[in-house]
Amino acid sequence: MSTLTAVHGDITTQRVDAIVNAANNAMRGGGGVDGAIHRAGGPAILQDCIARFPRGLATGDAGWTTGGDLPARWVVHTVGPNWNAGQRDRELLVSCYRRALQVADELGARSIAFPLISAGVYGWPREDAIQVAVDTILAAEVQLEDARIVAFDESAFRAVQASIRSGA
Ligand code: ADP
Repeated sequence: MSTLTAVHGDITTQRVDAIVNAANNAMRGGGGVDGAIHRAGGPAILQDCIARFPRGLATGDAGWTTGGDLPARWVVHTVGPNWNAGQRDRELLVSCYRRALQVADELGARSIAFPLISAGVYGWPREDAIQVAVDTILAAEVQLEDARIVAFDESAFRAVQASIRSGA
């Protein structure tokens, strides 16, 4: 990846080709960042989820839909492991980032924004969630040029920034 930056704010306002959604297996919307993306993008995203993913998506996998009314052209949905439900295999979280980058690359996206997958309701320990995000994105061999990790709160933003500085 050529550049990885930390952003403090709301992922739905990012002007990038693709934003990543921390979805669930059903892919029919939910809380947290998932709810925010469906609200901001409008009903076209859910329609596309139903049409393109009639059986939802496996944990660790990724797939795309339209961005609907979002500034981003595509939403790349991925399903993080639910730490709180006992899904603690780190490779599943690594796979979310790898698969999302691969899907975005295949679409021809040049810029992408990620939330901290699994770090909310799913309860993945924050420091490790950040480490997986930064390491996996930096190591990716893709055509994508601009990747961002968007942290909703100030302390997570600072931690992401520090991790990028030490990993770059
Ligand atoms: P998960 O179920 O994968 O844990 P959540 O949506 O609960 O997903 O949380 C994932 C991360 O996204 C958390 O760090 C949360 O603070 C953050 N988040 C929630 N809403 C937004 C938003 N609008 N933009 C960016 N990040 C968000």
